[in-house]
Amino acid sequence: MEQIRRKRRKAFVEEKACVACGCCAKVCPVSAISVWKGITAKVDQSKCVGCGKCAAECPASVISIREVEA
Ligand code: SF4
Ligand code: SF4
Repeated sequence: MEQIRRKRRKAFVEEKACVACGCCAKVCPVSAISVWKGITAKVDQSKCVGCGKCAAECPASVISIREVEA
C-alpha cells in the first residue's frame, strides 16, 4: 500500500545563537523544549506540534518553524 506523506510543522532552534534564557520552554504547551546544560534550547521533535508559541516568545529570534515530512 502506498504511504501517504504529510507535512508537519516543527520548531528548530539555531543552537549557536540561543542564549538559553528558557522563555521558549516556559510557553511550550506540550513541554517539548528543554534547556540543555544551560547552553542551548533543544526541541523534542516527537513532541512538538508546531504551534509557534516558542518562536513568538524568543527574544533572540533564533527559533524557526519549518515544514517537514511527517
Ligand atoms: S512550536 Fe509549539 S509545540 Fe513546538 S516547541 Fe514551539 S511551543 Fe512547543
Ligand atoms: S527563547 Fe530563544 S534564546 Fe531563549 S532559550 Fe529559547 S531559543 Fe534560546
